[in-house]
Amino acid sequence: MEKATITIALAGNPNSGKTTIFNNITGTRQKVGNWPGVTVEKKEGRIHKFGYDLKIIDLPGIYSLTPFSIEEIVARDYILEECPDVVIDIIDASNLERSLYLATQMRELGRSKVLFALNMSDVARARGFKIDEDKLSELLDVPVHATVGNKNQGVDVLLQKAIEMVESGKKPPKGRKVNYSKDIEAAIGTLEALLTPHFQADSPYDSRWASIKLLENDSVVLKRIQSVLPDDALSELMSKTDSLRQTLRDRYDEDPEIILTDERYGFIAGIMKEVFTTSSRKRIDSSRNIDLVLTNRFVGFPIFLFFIWAMFQLTFTLGAYPMDWIESGVAAAGAVLNNALPESLLKDLLVNGILAGVGSVVVFLPNILILFFCIAIFEDTGYMSRCAFLMDKIMHLIGLHGKSFIPMLMGFGCNVPAIMAARTLESEKDRLLTILITPFMSCSAKLPVYIVLAGTFFGPRAGTVIFIVYLLGIVTAILTGRLFRTTLLRGADAPFVMELPPYRVPMVKSLLIHMWDRSKMFLKKMGGIILVGSIIIWTLSAFPRTTQYSHDYPAAIAHVESVFTQHIDGADPSARPTLEAEKADRLQDIQRAMRAEQTTNSFMGRIGKAVAPVFAPLGIDWRGGVSLLAGFVAKEIVVSTLGVLHAVDEEGSEALRQALVDSGMTPLAAFSMMIFVLLYIPCIATVATIRKETNSMRWTFFSIGYTTVVAWLMAFIVYNGGRLIGLA
Ligand code: GDP
Ligand code: MG
Repeated sequence: MEKATITIALAGNPNSGKTTIFNNITGTRQKVGNWPGVTVEKKEGRIHKFGYDLKIIDLPGIYSLTPFSIEEIVARDYILEECPDVVIDIIDASNLERSLYLATQMRELGRSKVLFALNMSDVARARGFKIDEDKLSELLDVPVHATVGNKNQGVDVLLQKAIEMVESGKKPPKGRKVNYSKDIEAAIGTLEALLTPHFQADSPYDSRWASIKLLENDSVVLKRIQSVLPDDALSELMSKTDSLRQTLRDRYDEDPEIILTDERYGFIAGIMKEVFTTSSRKRIDSSRNIDLVLTNRFVGFPIFLFFIWAMFQLTFTLGAYPMDWIESGVAAAGAVLNNALPESLLKDLLVNGILAGVGSVVVFLPNILILFFCIAIFEDTGYMSRCAFLMDKIMHLIGLHGKSFIPMLMGFGCNVPAIMAARTLESEKDRLLTILITPFMSCSAKLPVYIVLAGTFFGPRAGTVIFIVYLLGIVTAILTGRLFRTTLLRGADAPFVMELPPYRVPMVKSLLIHMWDRSKMFLKKMGGIILVGSIIIWTLSAFPRTTQYSHDYPAAIAHVESVFTQHIDGADPSARPTLEAEKADRLQDIQRAMRAEQTTNSFMGRIGKAVAPVFAPLGIDWRGGVSLLAGFVAKEIVVSTLGVLHAVDEEGSEALRQALVDSGMTPLAAFSMMIFVLLYIPCIATVATIRKETNSMRWTFFSIGYTTVVAWLMAFIVYNGGRLIGLA
């Protein structure tokens, strides 16, 4: 396998020690000239060593692979065009953060073999810096070796490592690159899909890199692409690039190249945090100052909990106002339909089925908008990644990295995108584990259930109770993770870099877009699955039509009518309104009792009776049981089913609350039901996503079974434990 010549290029920042190392290797056997066409010095040396002819190139000193200066163009073109067998990036260890900018970009090229020399390691040591080489190597998946150029230390080993890399013939590893924020990743993905079919396997860079450069408006890369792409593909690519750049500019109010640079620095900040420690005082800058507090081991965590708590408080209290308006709107619509339509089955379907079902869910839209808005703020300010960072220690307890916490946090919004977000994890086991525990993160669809139950039974403490439920979900996820990691999915977690982007003041527009992107799914669900679900549930509860009632309700109604008519006629005019109101109340009670009896007798009631024994030990009655079954379609349906079963019609959640209290539900039982809702089987859409992402029916069924068993046990423990210690 003798390969006669190996070409090694030395790249790095100016003054990182390239020429010194170059001289060490080549001695006097060098050729000095200029790079073609420009007055940039080119040094090339040849030497026979370790059984190879080594050709060493001393590239001009550069800070990045962005073609800002002639040096950068020369160095980059050399790497892209001459395809050296291996590039050694000489990193100035005494200036690690700045050097990593170039190093990260080298890694981003994707196809070139790169090796890092941590030069100036003597200076770094003298300044009190400690750099964890192994960690750095692991995080970027690149060999790293410390050198002291001017003392010729470590240079031979460096060369040997470079030769080993070439000999091994392995492709440079994928992954361990900057993960940009989702808008940008989406844009990259779009361009990549257009580019990939036209890419040669031996191209020195991959289509992802080319896409990134296009987004950065890199004219040099653009020219290259122009020369290889057919015309029609090119024009599509160009117009797509323009529109994507415009979208990003609108969304961030910055040029895409600046956003990308910022995010690369975020990636580097993440690396620095893991590999770099210093005994001297840190450089001051505002992001880092904020991070000193927000990612501090002691205060960071309480602050994080506070933010999450505040988010739920806000969702609950602020959301209550628009919720009232929508509720009145739905009630008004119900009243209009009620008066306009003649008594019929169709009217019943419209008012008690569709309007009640969809209406009882649409009232939660404001809460969900607020929740998604808060999550967008966390993401856009850069706080989300700090959360992941903070959670890193805790996540390690379950054998996962902090990065898994981002899908989990997103699970608060909706499990479907959350489970898809687990794709960013590199290890298959990490991904599977994250997918299995994410459903315990309480999604926004469960919020309506909590709002009704906690709002009814816990009054002003509702926000706190809901917070506890969410917390319980997190704890269950962690315990589950720990359990699975030590049994089903044994193995170490993969190393990775947590991006720590600079803090940004988010743009309102981009917050709104992000909020809307996710809320759209909620609305789509409303029009689709919830509408269909409501109709099915109404049908099940409206049939069979009862013929035999235990009471003669029409007679009771007639009785009330006649008694009150007499009373009202004989009463003082000032007392009449009170009497009228009382009459209406009584009539409503009778009608409700009648409808309740009808429902009990219906198919729904029969199913409920059949499953009642399963839910009885949890303090949940048959109506609750049926609602929970219906919740498999979509969690929001739990509330609307409760509404149908308690025979509350268009009056919305106030009436449902009263009905729940009347049904004899206790606060403890309500809490037990909330826990069950929190933990049990994910909704259809989530199950489908789990199936798609794990590509395994076995894991899908496992997830369904496990969550439901855990839900039952937890609710059982809470309910019966609570009763033992005397909580009713
Ligand atoms: P270049 O611009 O990357 O080619 O850097 P040079 O090779 O010209 O080096 C810049 C200066 O750093 C020179 O004075 C070298 O002697 C010095 N130097 C190079 N490597 C090291 C090192 O590892 N430790 C220390 N202390 N100085 C070094
Ligand atoms: Mg030099």
